[in-house]
Amino acid sequence: MYDYLVVGSGLFGAVFAHEAKKAGKSVLVVDKRPHIAGNVYTEKVEGINVHKYGAHIFHTNNRQVWEYITQFAEFNRFTNSPVANYKGELFSLPFNMYTFNKMWGVVTPEEALAKIEEQRREIGGQPRNLEEQAISLVGRDIYEKLIKGYTEKQWGRDCRELPAFIIKRLPVRLTFDNNYFNALYQGIPAGGYTKLVDNLLEGIEVRLNTDYLADKAVLNALADKVVYTGPIDAYFDYQLGTLEYRSVRFEHELLDKPNYQGNAAVNYTDRETPWTRIIEHKWFEFGKDEAGNDLPKTIISREYSSEWQPGDEPYYPVNDEQNGRLYAEYKKLAEAERKVIFGGRLGEYKYYDMDQVIAAALVCCAEEKLL
Ligand code: FAD
Ligand code: UDP
Repeated sequence: MYDYLVVGSGLFGAVFAHEAKKAGKSVLVVDKRPHIAGNVYTEKVEGINVHKYGAHIFHTNNRQVWEYITQFAEFNRFTNSPVANYKGELFSLPFNMYTFNKMWGVVTPEEALAKIEEQRREIGGQPRNLEEQAISLVGRDIYEKLIKGYTEKQWGRDCRELPAFIIKRLPVRLTFDNNYFNALYQGIPAGGYTKLVDNLLEGIEVRLNTDYLADKAVLNALADKVVYTGPIDAYFDYQLGTLEYRSVRFEHELLDKPNYQGNAAVNYTDRETPWTRIIEHKWFEFGKDEAGNDLPKTIISREYSSEWQPGDEPYYPVNDEQNGRLYAEYKKLAEAERKVIFGGRLGEYKYYDMDQVIAAALVCCAEEKLL
């Protein structure tokens, strides 16, 4: 009999399992995928750590989380500066003086601000949706070229039907600063995320290719308590209806050339290009292998966003009002499951970044008196 059965070997499950073991508890981790690490999984191909489930850049303002995670890997100094490609025109992201200069020819922060203020006037009062929020942050020109198409591809919904907070994740700066994140700490773990998660899970029994929901009764009988990091609605067999998720399809391609796009991430912000972005993985580690040699080949991944259907991998919770209400109902059911803790992006149906997932897992460990 184990003290804990942890369902899911993503960051939430791995951090929880690590702390439980450290506190002297016995732990079994199961994952339905053939590998550990959940969505942060990386696989080494041609010397390149490929982010198989999309670009993952660690960034945080939480010093405790940074100190915690850097125990398990050394992080490099990668800074995310994606480029937006709108029909062949390139813009700097996030929205900053380089972007405003390219868009409007403005040179000083005052000129940029005057342009934004002139364009944001069309929104009177509190923004009620993503479109209004975006226009009130950066004006209509940037909304039309850099936000509308990308967002509608990513979420499959009209910008007027999406919550404002999604776009508030992006910084708007009147300085020449292309750092995508407002974060004190940022980087990519040397050797890839899989190695980091492997270090978290050191000495812990992990069973892969094991779907907890397909064998719930048998697996439940193995442990006193369960930590479940899969989708909350799937746990309850969708009895109240399905929560909506966005799924992503990745098309990976190995190219026999050293440099495809000169940057880790290029966002395609027009509506017509079917993919949302192209990732060129080698640039997360400056195009070098572990010994510091230049890598002769490159691997790119096109990212296509789609509506989640049963059987697909759910990636992004769609945190709008309707889903929020349904989640609240599922949460009540979850609270009644005394033996089960629901955690992580899917278990809590929250648009968590990695640092937030780690912080949430540590809170959960504290509640279980493991810390
Ligand atoms: P997951 O990693 O999803 O782990 C859940 C695990 O549970 C999975 O391995 C799954 O196989 C397993 N599982 C589910 N159901 C079952 C079952 N029935 N039985 C057994 N196992 C099951 N965050 C950042 O901070 N920076 C970024 O740049 C960033 N980029 C992202 C890009 C994309 C495309 C996506 C989708 C997310 C990104 N994130 C990023 C968010 C980050 O991926 C998450 O915060 C983090 O991975 C969540 O960890 P988790 O453990 O909650 O979930
Ligand atoms: N976004 C956009 N244009 C871009 C990049 C992002 O309009 O070039 C919007 C889009 O709505 C996206 C949101 O900003 O959902 C948040 O972007 P972020 O890069 O944080 O999304 P992630 O994929 O990391 O969740």
